[in-house]
Amino acid sequence: MKRNKVVAGNWKMHLTANEAQQFANKLRINLLDTHGVSIIICPPFLGLKSVFDTVKDSSIKVGAQNMHNETQGAFTGEISGEMIKDIGIQYVLLGHSERRHVFGETDDFINKKMASSLRVGLDPVLCVGERLEEREAGKTSEVVIRQLRAGLKEISEAQMAHVMIAYEPVWAIGTGLTASREQAVEVHEIIRDELASLYSGVIAEKTAILYGGSVKAENAKDLMSHEEIDGVLVGGAALKVDSFVGIAKAAMEIN
Ligand code: PEP
Repeated sequence: MKRNKVVAGNWKMHLTANEAQQFANKLRINLLDTHGVSIIICPPFLGLKSVFDTVKDSSIKVGAQNMHNETQGAFTGEISGEMIKDIGIQYVLLGHSERRHVFGETDDFINKKMASSLRVGLDPVLCVGERLEEREAGKTSEVVIRQLRAGLKEISEAQMAHVMIAYEPVWAIGTGLTASREQAVEVHEIIRDELASLYSGVIAEKTAILYGGSVKAENAKDLMSHEEIDGVLVGGAALKVDSFVGIAKAAMEIN
């Protein structure tokens, strides 16, 4: 089954609202026609509105990098999915490795956010991936399957139409070490098999699975040329117009 490629940029804690707006405008001008590739940019919370207003008439979509599972309440410093949805945003990254390992988010908390994001009409990208010591101990499959099962607990088949998965090996994020295409494909196949057993073959075939971890314009085409890799989630290389546009163009050539 042919799935359109997706290129998502995670800007992490970079760019003020003004800088984000200017950057988004440059991307808009450089990516007027995305040839069916979904381009998603994820600025920090404060940049969401200005970025959304800048690209709303283009084919570039906007995502948040995180959210809280509760709608409102005494959660100082948090932002709810409803607040994100209210300003027009469509996507949200959940379970990013920095949220898991720097901020201590558990599978259970991530699952609550998954359920909440879908309830308010956002499309979550569930990030999963093993740490280096887990890979070296031969536990990649076990870790990824655990994160996947926990993250998708009680998420229905119908809701899966709005879910993407990102496989991001922790050892490849921000390190310059990219998983080889074979390593990425191997885990993508594990994820797709697990989706088939959790849901159905049809859901597994329809769900986009992105790879993330030191993707650059130079390696994006090789990674995405495999039909199992439906796109990429890009951190560092998403912060330069040339490199992000280069990755987007690589996806367009393959799409
Ligand atoms: C990320 O933050 O999701 C990521 C993949 O980062 P980088 O591309 O910098 O490795």
